[in-house]
Amino acid sequence: MSGVHDTPAWVMLAYLVAGICFILALRGLSSPATSQRGNRLGMIGMAIAVVTTLVTHVPSAIQPGGHPLQYSPVFAPDWTTIALILAAIGIGAVIGIIGARRIQMTAMPQLVAAFHSLVGLAAVLVGAAAFLNPEAFGIVTRITPIAEPSFLMINPVSRIELGLGVAIGAITFSGSVIAFLKLNGNMGGAPILLPGRHVINLGTLVAILGLVAYFTQDQAPWVFWTILALSFAIGFLLIIPIGGADMPVVVSMLNSYSGWAAAAMGFTLHNSAMIITGALVGSSGAILSYIMCRAMNRSFISVIAGGFGAVASSGSGEVIDRPYKRGSAEDAAFLMKQSDQVIIVPGYGMAVAQAQHVLREMADLLKKEGVRVKYAIHPVAGRMPGHMNVLLAEANVPYDEVFELEDINSEFAQTDVAFVIGANDVTNPAAKTDKTSPIYGMPVLDVEKARTVLFIKRSMGGAGYAGVDNELFYRDNTMMLLADAKKMVEEIVKALA
Ligand code: NDP
Repeated sequence: MSGVHDTPAWVMLAYLVAGICFILALRGLSSPATSQRGNRLGMIGMAIAVVTTLVTHVPSAIQPGGHPLQYSPVFAPDWTTIALILAAIGIGAVIGIIGARRIQMTAMPQLVAAFHSLVGLAAVLVGAAAFLNPEAFGIVTRITPIAEPSFLMINPVSRIELGLGVAIGAITFSGSVIAFLKLNGNMGGAPILLPGRHVINLGTLVAILGLVAYFTQDQAPWVFWTILALSFAIGFLLIIPIGGADMPVVVSMLNSYSGWAAAAMGFTLHNSAMIITGALVGSSGAILSYIMCRAMNRSFISVIAGGFGAVASSGSGEVIDRPYKRGSAEDAAFLMKQSDQVIIVPGYGMAVAQAQHVLREMADLLKKEGVRVKYAIHPVAGRMPGHMNVLLAEANVPYDEVFELEDINSEFAQTDVAFVIGANDVTNPAAKTDKTSPIYGMPVLDVEKARTVLFIKRSMGGAGYAGVDNELFYRDNTMMLLADAKKMVEEIVKALA
């Protein structure tokens, strides 16, 4: 049997270097200023891990009696296998490059969900391959009292790894497919609530764990395939009741699951790089989910339990007739020119309109007039974590002008103008005051405390992601600027210039 003990020292060293690259990559990704370096380190780490795995495993594939997963001391290239692997890498790379180039920033969350589904599926396929051909994976125990000579007994520890690995992989796969369909608009964002869903979900989870335990005693195919089928089903059942505004947490939670699935398969494959990488992805995804839950003031359990956003909100139709103040680009330019401080609050609409570049031009003109300009970022503004930071960085907005919610919220009270551009839910005061609102308890930016709130959106009818109306539109100190964000800011720039 192969194992980490057979692994040559240079391979362990290479995997260690790859692991260090991944840790430094995560560190780099924690700030927009260092994120590109972080990404590059991640790519270097992955290249080291992939090349090391290939040169140590592929040659042995053709050795008579050898196991593909054992490290071969002899270099005996099997060119057919190498060509197949390179072709698979090539096809994957082309799809990845085209996908990444074509994807709009606004569609990034569904791209991430799609990628997670592939990680889950890969774990399932590796697990199925190991179950069907355990000898090739070096997970067969030789001490077997079974009479039948063709019977290959998988060692019990590997059966636990296999059972848990395919279960997590299958949950990640079907859950991510549902997350993709919801985020991509192919399926309604509202939670779908089945009667008795908590009992069904809990029962299914207990059944999966019970079967994984039973799998250590009996490796009959029905046990393995039932674990797989139930796990696909529970992934689906767990995500359909989750409503729109909880989607960011779900995406990062699935990210975490995909990491644990990869780590479990790393044990089956005896690959320490995969264990390290899986654990890093698993734990960073879990930490991100926790941070996001805190940002929305929701408990992790209540997110998983689902149902958020199912409460009928005060529909926007009911309040369209309420009086509100409407302003023009010239009004906005005049008000901001007179200000000491303007705080810009970007949201999903800025991403849709791609207004970040012209927004920076506007900020530059204001700064020339002696106005202090700051940007306030809500942790779940937009449609993915860090969405606004990425867009502002793309427009070369200086990092020292960009502030997180907790660092800037107290400043709105001393600010002349809060300039809300395409944000909605993250400014909604109902989160602080209306106990019946589905976003109640989510910390929000206190924009209404500014002397004037300028609010850009296209129409009074459109609601934010959570589908709730925003009291802010009708306040005395709010002026609505109804237009596409980019067009409106272009006109403000003209008026300022
Ligand atoms: P919202 O989705 O609450 O609001 C977007 C606003 O932008 C709407 O008022 C919309 O109104 C306006 N808008 C859309 N397009 C344009 C345009 N071209 N020009 C001008 N305005 C436009 O965005 P927020 O950023 O405030 O909040 C994010 C929401 O998304 C939260 O509920 C969050 O939980 C959720 N979410 C966040 C994720 C994340 O990780 N950040 C992931 C998934 C969901 P109108 O249509 O009238 O123009």
